[in-house]
Amino acid sequence: MTRGNDTSLLRCPRCLGALEESAGNALRCAACAADYPSLGRYHDLFVESRPAPPYPAELAHLHFPREGLLAMTPPPETAWDRLFGRRDFNRGWERDLQALQDTVRQAGCCERGRAEFMKDDEASPAFEHQRREVRVKARKIMRRVLGATPAGSRGGLVLHVGCGGRCNDGIPVEYARAGYVNHGVDAVRSYVEEFLDQGHAQLANALALPYADASFDVVNYTDILEHLFDPLGGLVEAVRVLRPGGLLMLDTPGYASIDRSRALSYLEYALGRAFPATRRRRLVTASWDGQTFFHTEFTARELRRLLSLAGLDILSLDNETFHPAELDGPPPRPSLLRRLTPAGSWFALARRPS
Ligand SMILES: [Zn+2]
Repeated sequence: MTRGNDTSLLRCPRCLGALEESAGNALRCAACAADYPSLGRYHDLFVESRPAPPYPAELAHLHFPREGLLAMTPPPETAWDRLFGRRDFNRGWERDLQALQDTVRQAGCCERGRAEFMKDDEASPAFEHQRREVRVKARKIMRRVLGATPAGSRGGLVLHVGCGGRCNDGIPVEYARAGYVNHGVDAVRSYVEEFLDQGHAQLANALALPYADASFDVVNYTDILEHLFDPLGGLVEAVRVLRPGGLLMLDTPGYASIDRSRALSYLEYALGRAFPATRRRRLVTASWDGQTFFHTEFTARELRRLLSLAGLDILSLDNETFHPAELDGPPPRPSLLRRLTPAGSWFALARRPS
């Protein structure tokens, strides 16, 4: 496995100019003279997002510009919420939205200010559970990526956008096993530092990637799209750094996810399919380890439109679950209910046209 930190692929995230070593191991842009400090084994290349691309009217609700987020208020509880017991789902909405708005005020329309020093509790059962789920996910990712890549052209460079740290390391491990060299970017410093065990990594914004056009054979985009205020802008950036013919592997929570332990949830799901206005409101925050994140969810139709607008050809879009039991044996046989109610994540493989 390649270790250390290769900076040869890096470009200025503001203007894409070439970067040169300057004093104190910092990088300086030869074109715009911006400085990017060294943080020891990696660089701080995090800059504000690029301006958002235009959203078509039917996707405008997916874009959360700064003023829109600051003006947002928690929605009132509806009769449907009471019927389906959604109160728990929205518990803390007001407090979480407040925390998110404070971050946006302080750090602009990015999550860096809050998330920079996030640490996972590696002793918690939730951390171990997530790690096992990620290992199942990693196998399914590689099955798709390798299935779409002729044997002679496997390997190359993969960029993990929102690379995450040790909780996600099952994914870069599988890529390395298949012959790929891992590069990662994240807004969380501790995650960047942990990812350096798997390859190269930098602190950077998914909406302003510090790489030249057409640098990567694969962009791995798992559990990141839902955290972006500008998801189309994020995908446009991913496509920019993908070589023509390269693959984008995307995983993001599905809008339709239901609570299988509650019979009423199946009725809720069925009604939501038939009458979209009865669906639960779009989640805009989620908490993990005491931190409040921006978090939204997508329908299959929205994802297809976003991927197409970003210029990608969609090879597959499936609903997947990642059950830790699958590590030790065949997946639990999908029941009819499971098949009729896709409750997991959207798993999409797409190609940048040659
Ligand atoms: Zn520059």
